[in-house]
Amino acid sequence: MAAAAERPDLSGLELQDLEARFHTLGIERFHARQVFRWAHKRGITDPHEMSDLSRDLRLRLASEFSVTTPRIVSRSISSDGTQKFLIQLADRRSIESVFIPDTPAMTFCISSQIGCAMDCAFCLTGKMGFARNLTAGEIVAQVRLLAITLGLHESRFNIVLMGMGEPLHNYDNTMKALRILHSEHGLAVSPRRVTLSTVGIVPGLERLAREPLMPNLAVSLHATTDEQRTALVPPNKKYPLADILEACRRFPLKKRNRITFEYVMLAGVNDTPDDARRLVKLLAGIKAKVNLIPLNPAPGIPYERPSDARVDRFAQILADRHITVSVRKSRGQDIRAACGQLIVEGGTKKTAAQQMALLMR
Ligand code: SAH
Repeated sequence: MAAAAERPDLSGLELQDLEARFHTLGIERFHARQVFRWAHKRGITDPHEMSDLSRDLRLRLASEFSVTTPRIVSRSISSDGTQKFLIQLADRRSIESVFIPDTPAMTFCISSQIGCAMDCAFCLTGKMGFARNLTAGEIVAQVRLLAITLGLHESRFNIVLMGMGEPLHNYDNTMKALRILHSEHGLAVSPRRVTLSTVGIVPGLERLAREPLMPNLAVSLHATTDEQRTALVPPNKKYPLADILEACRRFPLKKRNRITFEYVMLAGVNDTPDDARRLVKLLAGIKAKVNLIPLNPAPGIPYERPSDARVDRFAQILADRHITVSVRKSRGQDIRAACGQLIVEGGTKKTAAQQMALLMR
């Protein structure tokens, strides 16, 4: 029997890796596909419950692999139908994932890390600090748990990597998770239904550009000058606007596909007509669409949401210059499930502001 810490997560391996492990253990290869289907199609991750495997094999799997998979510990439902799930992991830490119905698609907003190291000035998750990366198994588990709990595992749904964390800061596990989710023996999620949202880590964008399995790309821009962007999105110091936009210009896009640029709107900070005009200039030559996100305010976040009129004015300037623009509707604010509002206890650093944010939830 393998020591607990060395046991790989049975539901965190790609099919080919599971096959290779089975081969090394002297277990027939075809069982790997059976087990993969149990875990990812039917949501059964405990080998004891995999009823078409022999008793011997079930015991063997339970001793060779880790089978403590994430579980939902609470679920809140917003008046607008959005649902937030608190999911507990094997080390008893927790993460949040959100289900957003009828956008018009069914959408799962999932996390890639516990906390976040990016520390964007307006985001509550950043206030938690960074605890650790999620494993591929933990990223996949969020989708599986939500899909099965909501009875959607046989239907089409979208996935947005817009929960807690920066997916390109956890590159390998995120991409592995997308491959597991894509497998025809699992949930068979098409990469066209997946959107990865990033602050714009340039080496990560360059790697992503070469991936065979390419999700849609969303880049969190939020400002039109380096000075302002560095104040709002600290990684901009290392990866300034020009470098990010150059990587976007080179990013391979399929026909009719575009890069989404997210732009959080902060009243009196980045919401002026001049900002809008600068944004138009920055995006020249990029197949872009812009998603304006009026700030979801939260305790401890020192910004305000602009008025609808101000948001409309900004949107109109973009539209007049032929940029496709949408305004993200805030969903699930009453259960703190909206963008930038995901936070759980147990992060690493806690300043006075964070303590307050936690207390005032
Ligand atoms: N790290 C990734 C995913 C983050 S969440 C990224 O930065 O893109 C997805 C979006 O929500 C990001 O664009 C993020 O900047 C935005 N967001 C964060 N806090 C917010 C808030 N309080 N109100 C509105 N949007 C917010």
